[in-house]
Amino acid sequence: MNKAKKINAVEELERLGAAQRGHFFHNDLSHVEWSVDLRHFYPQTMEVGPFVDEMVHRYITRAAHEAIETVIAPGENGGNILSHLVAYSLTTYTGRQVHAVWAENEPGCGWRIFHGFEKYLQGKRVLVVDGVIVDGRATQGAINIARSTGGFVQGVESIWDWGSLKPMEMRFSPDQWHSLVEGKRWAAGIDCPTCKAMAADIKEIAAK
Ligand SMILES: [Zn+2]
Repeated sequence: MNKAKKINAVEELERLGAAQRGHFFHNDLSHVEWSVDLRHFYPQTMEVGPFVDEMVHRYITRAAHEAIETVIAPGENGGNILSHLVAYSLTTYTGRQVHAVWAENEPGCGWRIFHGFEKYLQGKRVLVVDGVIVDGRATQGAINIARSTGGFVQGVESIWDWGSLKPMEMRFSPDQWHSLVEGKRWAAGIDCPTCKAMAADIKEIAAK
């Protein structure tokens, strides 16, 4: 792992077409400056590597008795890819097999675990990963599944976190919750810098 090669995740995602700058709003009507779609990111295997390095670096030096044993993600929107990449990276760095599993969202039933994946969670130290945490339901689903199956969730790592989940409320300490990008959201209108800029433009034109 080359620690000196720290990535600028936003710049890199923008370069790959996975993040687009603009003026967007979320379901809760908050405004944001970026639209993120990691389907334009995961195919770029060479560029994905440094992101995965950033996500695993905290865990590769752990002693065997506290090492991550299983990685879980919400399986939609490429979460299963990310789970596998992170688990494989941990396996490579530590020389210990780290399993990769994913939860699945059953319409009407919520997030569940299938395929006998329970055995990789029960009594195991688990890392939860997610690509983009938007409203947080998928991430929360994976956390709940890991815990209810008897896993000991050690932390949450994501690529882009819009800050909808409150780690403390889910029994995480701040040092158990990391994201490569902490996305900023604003209330529409006066708090949103893009809205503010547009309002300024309108005033300027109206004054002429
Ligand atoms: Zn706005």
